[in-house]
Amino acid sequence: MLRQYPLTKAQTIALFEKYPSPFHLYDEKQIRANARRLKKAFDWMPGFKNYFAVKALPNPFIMKILKEEGMGADCSSLAELVLSEKAGITGENIMFTSNDTPAEEFVLARKLGAIINLDDISHIDFLEKASGTPELLSFRYNPGRLKEGNVIIGKPEEAKYGLTRDQIIEAYKIAKSKGVKRFGLHTMVASNELSEEYHVGTARMLFELVVEISRATGIRIEMIDMGGGYGIPYHPGDKEVDLEMVSRLIKKDYDELIVGNGLAPLEIVMENGRMVTGPFGWLVSRIRHIKNIYRRYAGLDASMANLMRPGMYGSYHHITVLGKEKLANDHKYDVTGPLCENNDKFAVERMLPELEIGDAIVIHCTGAHGHAMGFNYNGQLRSAELLLRENGEVEQIRRAETLDDYFATLNFEKLEGFKA
Ligand SMILES: *Cc1c(COP(=O)(O)O)cnc(C)c1O
Repeated sequence: MLRQYPLTKAQTIALFEKYPSPFHLYDEKQIRANARRLKKAFDWMPGFKNYFAVKALPNPFIMKILKEEGMGADCSSLAELVLSEKAGITGENIMFTSNDTPAEEFVLARKLGAIINLDDISHIDFLEKASGTPELLSFRYNPGRLKEGNVIIGKPEEAKYGLTRDQIIEAYKIAKSKGVKRFGLHTMVASNELSEEYHVGTARMLFELVVEISRATGIRIEMIDMGGGYGIPYHPGDKEVDLEMVSRLIKKDYDELIVGNGLAPLEIVMENGRMVTGPFGWLVSRIRHIKNIYRRYAGLDASMANLMRPGMYGSYHHITVLGKEKLANDHKYDVTGPLCENNDKFAVERMLPELEIGDAIVIHCTGAHGHAMGFNYNGQLRSAELLLRENGEVEQIRRAETLDDYFATLNFEKLEGFKA
């Protein structure tokens, strides 16, 4: 089920006075309730924690709320590590799952006490030189042809991430010889996956590998990290992932493979981003122009620079027109932005009520990989981010960019003296 946009048309129009459209709005109450639901569903798992994938919504105000709900932070860049520290998330509450990593990022991750998840066997030496070898080390497993992928992340054997089956056994041996005392195992094989069986299969694959690593090396893995990738209903017809079912089925495999082989307790953690905030964010925009040519176009004041998933992956994002929810969807539109780029469409041939200039448009499920993927192509400025607090007040948690922000990296004084 799609989550309902939490404000009325009148409240939204009133908000425009203070915060001109477009903006992303997030709902604190629903984010907290969902975080508790996730925690409760997996509460039998030893050491369960979701490390929120910061890239999904890199806003420290949101991260502070998630920290309070018991989440850690999953980081993959310097900026994400800094954001985590600012939000008060440090030590083993940070999972550093990066790839193609520069040395300075390992240095900061180590300084913060983060759990380091290495993406390649050659990074054992690279990490040692950059910042020394930590006591706790994890490796990212890429199962190759042993596991099917899905559309967004691709087939594992074509994905750039992780170590192969053979490499990973070798990597644990090398790590042990370098003094590593505590070991983790990670994988991330899907994104936006709604199938319960898929997630259960991922856990089972890791349990089997834990058993194999234990047999081959004598090493006892203390933690598995199943990555993120839980899908969300973008389409009104989509169902949610049944977390309770996933949990129950994983427990069966855990009892058989981990408890049964004397390898319990094994901590189980995740790195979900999308399912944590995705359904609880909305891009709010207004119609600037209506244009009738070979097709009918509704031009918004938001563009692909505010939400690039439809343009990049052809993803469906549901659209509602405030105040017209009860009208028949009997007009067909391409809903576009102003970029000089024909991919700049939020919807193609979408049936909607008849639209007018000034209508307030809500694009659903923008709480993850929405604002975060924003860019400045065509001189578009990134929008503000607003948070609907539990007490009903709206707080700005990031202002909109200005032209000064856009030009901040150019020196116009130097340009005056520059001879072309
Ligand atoms: C992107 C990513 C995640 C989060 O994925 P979601 O689909 O947002 O849950 C978690 N871990 C890693 C390593 C990632 O790259």
